[in-house]
Amino acid sequence: MALENGKIPDSYLVKISGGNVSADCDPRLRKGAAASWETIYAELKKLRWPARVVNDGYRDFARQQRYKNNGMSNVTPGKSNHGWGLAVDVDGLGGFNSAKFNTFAAIAKPKSWNNDEGKSIGEPWHWVYTGEPDKVGGSVAPSPPPPPPGKLTEDGVFGTETVKRWQQVMGTVADGIISGQFTGNKQYHQASAALQYGSGGSSLVRAVQQKLGITADGHLGPNTIKAIQKRLGVTADGYFAAKPSETVKALQRKLNTGTF
Ligand SMILES: [Zn+2]
Repeated sequence: MALENGKIPDSYLVKISGGNVSADCDPRLRKGAAASWETIYAELKKLRWPARVVNDGYRDFARQQRYKNNGMSNVTPGKSNHGWGLAVDVDGLGGFNSAKFNTFAAIAKPKSWNNDEGKSIGEPWHWVYTGEPDKVGGSVAPSPPPPPPGKLTEDGVFGTETVKRWQQVMGTVADGIISGQFTGNKQYHQASAALQYGSGGSSLVRAVQQKLGITADGHLGPNTIKAIQKRLGVTADGYFAAKPSETVKALQRKLNTGTF
């Protein structure tokens, strides 16, 4: 996938040591840069530098925009190496060619970091990694998101696989179970191992309800089923019950597109 400056997926970014000198800091870098940074940090530790030395790492697009607007940065949003997850602002280096600056440079430069960009914008603290961004130790870091799973069978049966995919799409825990349901709603459901009765509702159903803009109580009752049916463009009768169910088929078709 093509990465975009300031829109690097979380799966490509790793938290680095030495972060959060200030609160407005995202101490993350791309995996290759982060692994290299850790070797620098280990050297700094030996020299008894402060534990917190990172003023900033990754800077998403919105923060680049904010910094440009409030004069904290001259860099055009979308152009900063912070937006690629490849730049670190190191705290306490002093000016160019100060003793601390030179100590840091002697450690970082052999590890494929430089201050060239920093120099051009008058920032001794701004260091950029020029090695392989997503490779650690010569092999590709296991960072890109997993490939999309196989398609659900569009059979209208509300089983654990369908629920699990729904959970993945909604970003809730993907255990394949809708838990905590009212037994009083049983008549609206298919008999399914994916449905557990009890109390408290289901976080998947809550996420679905929030998305649909209805009361988020976590219970798959007739009103929630009707709202789901409206979204899916099928008859809104409030029942998931028939097996195979046209509603569940429509849900499976929708989930197979990776959305709900
Ligand atoms: Zn910087």
